[in-house]
Amino acid sequence: MYEFAVTPAVTQLRRPGVTIDSVIPGTIADDVGLESGDRITKVNGRAVRDYLDFRFQTSGEVEMILLVKKADGETWEVDIERDEGEDLGIEFEQIIPRQCANECIFCFCKGNPEDARPSLFVRDEDIRLSFLYGNYTTLSSVTEAEMQRIIEQRLSPQYVSVHATDVRARAYLLGVGEEQADISDKLERLLSNNIEIHAQVVLCPEINDGKVLERTLGDLAALHPGVVSTAVVPVALTRYNKDERLTKVTSEFCVKTIEEVGKLQEEFRKTIGTTFAFLGDEIYVKAGVPVPSREHYGEYPQIEDGVGMIRTFIREFDEFLEKVRESEPSSVRSAKANPRLSELAHVPDSETDLPVLGSLNGTVFTGEMFAPYLAAGVEKLNELVGSDLKVVAVPNTYFGGDVSVAGLLSGQDFIAVRERVSGDFVVIPPAVIKSDEPILIDGMTFDELKAGFGVPVYAADLMELVRRNLSGELPLGE
Ligand code: SF4
Repeated sequence: MYEFAVTPAVTQLRRPGVTIDSVIPGTIADDVGLESGDRITKVNGRAVRDYLDFRFQTSGEVEMILLVKKADGETWEVDIERDEGEDLGIEFEQIIPRQCANECIFCFCKGNPEDARPSLFVRDEDIRLSFLYGNYTTLSSVTEAEMQRIIEQRLSPQYVSVHATDVRARAYLLGVGEEQADISDKLERLLSNNIEIHAQVVLCPEINDGKVLERTLGDLAALHPGVVSTAVVPVALTRYNKDERLTKVTSEFCVKTIEEVGKLQEEFRKTIGTTFAFLGDEIYVKAGVPVPSREHYGEYPQIEDGVGMIRTFIREFDEFLEKVRESEPSSVRSAKANPRLSELAHVPDSETDLPVLGSLNGTVFTGEMFAPYLAAGVEKLNELVGSDLKVVAVPNTYFGGDVSVAGLLSGQDFIAVRERVSGDFVVIPPAVIKSDEPILIDGMTFDELKAGFGVPVYAADLMELVRRNLSGELPLGE
């Protein structure tokens, strides 16, 4: 399976430069004859390895010379002049991730079903993707050239999976030697060059919890503000994780962790003015306690890691309801004007002469973890606009185990609960569809999924759909 991921990276190493994916018509790149498939190998005499290099070497330049390898093998030298800040109009190929050299005991690849789509087996450990998309790296095999690149090109912030500052515990978790596991010098070097770091701890009961976690968070907090924040997320075991060294995260474990880390958070707020160590949402859900307040999360520094998502959703949904309320009477009355909804909402007959929109009577699928929060919001919406939306929590049978987040639901999981659909349409979380291709995590295409339901299926944000429906832009279920 790994061959799929490794081969392109090797090919990439042999081919210097960065390939143009497309050129926007009417831009400078178009004017000078650059085309899709061309490969830019140098900018002003300096080698280019990828689009980050290109961006770095052209940033602030109004005049530049590009060395371009054309698809037919010709080499062009292209002189470009542009106004300050003018876009060249080039879209580049995606960065092919550098592969990781660890053997983490909890690696997500070991928890994948064999038939999962190949991209789920890509074990990336790439400082460029860390900077661009917030992907975590362990820095355990980062090269000197990569370290220099972070510093020279200011690839800040970097997202680092620390897991434990106790080197023995870290080596055990990563499946590498202690020397390789020790990244204290690397962290110091990055911080002393003003590279910001967001850290992550994947919490594995009986390995890096308790005293090890206390020390880890204390050590990292001592490096604040360079280390901006730390996310503590529980290890998620699927039914395919058979490693006996791993212990399941229980609700008792979560209660204990909230108590222990809560004390540290209080201390950090007093000493460094921030919560600093943020627990993953799953920990609160599993412990059966409310998620923390908005103030707790500050600027939500770990939202990309899913930390604070539930609080963000509650806030955004309340703001959305407020907007819907303020937009009365037109949009809300329009929704109530639907004959089926009029009945539900007991709208007086005099209002039913408003334009009839599609129904707001449908089923919203989501993961088991998020379902209670979504259902609470949807109940308020139903009361407000007289809609009849129903939230269904979809069990994740594809991965099984602890996996309950919406983004990892498969096509088969949705099909398995189709009997529970009521109303005129189905909404599924947009995150279940691959960003660059309409397929789900188990390889089912979106069209195949849609064909499995007798009503339209929308992969979209519910608030956006309802907003468009209420404004008359998108009648649902028609
Ligand atoms: S760093 Fe660990 S968890 Fe991440 S891809 Fe590599 S082996 Fe897997």
